[in-house]
Amino acid sequence: MEQTFIMIKPDGVQRGLVGEIISRFEKKGFTLKGLKFITVDRPFAEKHYADLSAKPFFNGLVEYIISGPVVAMVWEGKNVVTTGRKIIGATNPAESAPGTIRGDYAIDIGRNVIHGSDAVESGRKEIALWFPEGIAEWRSSLHPWIYE
Ligand code: ADP
Repeated sequence: MEQTFIMIKPDGVQRGLVGEIISRFEKKGFTLKGLKFITVDRPFAEKHYADLSAKPFFNGLVEYIISGPVVAMVWEGKNVVTTGRKIIGATNPAESAPGTIRGDYAIDIGRNVIHGSDAVESGRKEIALWFPEGIAEWRSSLHPWIYE
């Protein structure tokens, strides 16, 4: 089964969107495999966003991510990377469709509430970075009611 790394960013935590966001992934039928509530430091945030280090918004992005606690999660399911990105919506909330998390709850690109891996391979790398201790081994009893 495919896995993805999902993070509720500090603005999502501060705005009380944790339950709502988890609920959307749960209700879709995806399985929660890892969950932690942590504040990360600058070197860690820079590592997570290393691919964006040349971007002009990189420093602001790192400041934003280290500004408060985040909820780091691993979700599992068929096509969870692509479908997770659809649930999240476009990077810029001005362009995210209503019904998506960013479309419903965000306005500015630099305060877009949530992160989701953009590919299976980056998901693997992000899960290894955020969950070096490993993740839960379990299978939901709802599995046969979600997958044919
Ligand atoms: P996504 O998070 O949708 O995968 P990117 O990987 O391109 O998008 O960017 C990572 C994060 O950097 C975005 O979610 C957003 O918080 C921030 N970001 C991207 N572009 C900008 C920008 N032009 N100005 C400010 N922040 C940005």
